[in-house]
Amino acid sequence: MPRLVVVSNRVPVPSPKGSTATAGGLAVALEAALKSHGGLWFGWSGKTSGDREIEWLEIRDFGNVTYAVADLNRRDVDEYYAGFANRALWPLCHYRLDLTDFSRKDMAGYFRVNRSFARLLAPLLRPDDLIWVHDYHLIPLAAELRHMGVKNRIGYFHHIPWPPADVLSTLPVHDTIMRGLAAYDLVGLQTDYDVENFAGCMVREGFGRALGGNWYESYGHRFQVGAFPIGIDTDIFVQMAEEGLKNPIAKRTKESLNDRDLVIGVDRLDYSKGIGQRIEAFSRFIEMSPSAKGHVTFLQITPKSRSEVPEYADMQKEIAELTGRVNGQLGDVDWVPIRYVNKTVSRAALAGLYRIARAGLVTPLRDGMNLVAKEFVAAQDPNDPGVLVLSRFAGAAREMDGALIVNPYDTEATANAIGRAISMPVEARRERYNSMMPKLREHDVAAWCRSYLDVLSQATEPQSEGL
Ligand code: UDP
Repeated sequence: MPRLVVVSNRVPVPSPKGSTATAGGLAVALEAALKSHGGLWFGWSGKTSGDREIEWLEIRDFGNVTYAVADLNRRDVDEYYAGFANRALWPLCHYRLDLTDFSRKDMAGYFRVNRSFARLLAPLLRPDDLIWVHDYHLIPLAAELRHMGVKNRIGYFHHIPWPPADVLSTLPVHDTIMRGLAAYDLVGLQTDYDVENFAGCMVREGFGRALGGNWYESYGHRFQVGAFPIGIDTDIFVQMAEEGLKNPIAKRTKESLNDRDLVIGVDRLDYSKGIGQRIEAFSRFIEMSPSAKGHVTFLQITPKSRSEVPEYADMQKEIAELTGRVNGQLGDVDWVPIRYVNKTVSRAALAGLYRIARAGLVTPLRDGMNLVAKEFVAAQDPNDPGVLVLSRFAGAAREMDGALIVNPYDTEATANAIGRAISMPVEARRERYNSMMPKLREHDVAAWCRSYLDVLSQATEPQSEGL
């Protein structure tokens, strides 16, 4: 078995005792894959150190896995991370042309940091290593490695949506981005819609051609493109939820509800998540249903994110104001309709909170997959499950047919779905839960990892033209 090299923008280096207790499902699955292959995890340390250029790596071994991380300087973080990755690629991939801020300076920083990463990584590679690069921060990495003579199999997984050609082509350097992707051997995307969009970008814009099957040829290189919908660590989540009420946060929340129904939303503070539209829909639901007034509480957990990007700071203000307005208009002396929590909650506490909720609202305007949707369902009590209200624009909607699927731009319809979820009879709720759980168990994050690495390691180029 070849050694596995994982590259990601941030690297969850274990604590000195080797603990990864706080890591999420993806980190746990990648770490398990690294342990089974033996491997190396490479990327940014998350630290900003003065003005120095990236020139050295901190390397630590835990068993058969090596972690190699580099600090970035302030300019790199501004241009590569906060700039091009989070103010150009992120909004663009989430179809938000209105928020996409393209700057040549940031773009240069993005390519510069990828080149520096390639320069640091190349000497650590062995000829038969399998290299797996994660997410939009690192699209040019394979091309940079190829320039340095690296011939290994290199795969890329794009965790966020892939936009249609008309959206992508507004980015002045979209051809360089497409060329960067053509240097990989496998481009993995979340859903079949993303694959369609990607193929459209390549073929319609004249960057490449389809060879049949999953194969494409672009800039003289043959590579595969496929949908690999990411899963969660389902069994661990089920177990955490079963023990959930022992968690002090979940316990306190349950006690504080005084038998009111709980509706829950959990999202990073991000404009792609549709938090404002969701609050409007919940408010409309309360207005439309007199019996819900005083009897339903909406808990929105929203850790702050990317506060260095101006659009996020603006949004923080908007959501806080909207929540205040709705609570002021609809609340009463003994009941607040929306509890808005602006901090990170542990996965164990989330599992307990999902379990006591009657409905989970996952209503992004656009999302690659949305793991909260899957976690919410996995956390339910099989005998008395809550109902998932899910946006049709989340990748998860392609799989989760037991959810109430909504258009988050349609306030009335989302408000109606919240009402339907809360009043749904138990048999219907069980049926919906049972239709989703087997898939969540079978397609968990470990299976996702295996299926991607199988394709990457076994890929054989089509031999004849048009195969
Ligand atoms: N999460 C968490 N604590 C919080 C909020 C979120 O641990 O306070 C976790 C959540 O359980 C999920 C992940 O963060 O595993 C969010 O993933 P998702 O795909 O839903 O959205 P992303 O933030 O990656 O866009």
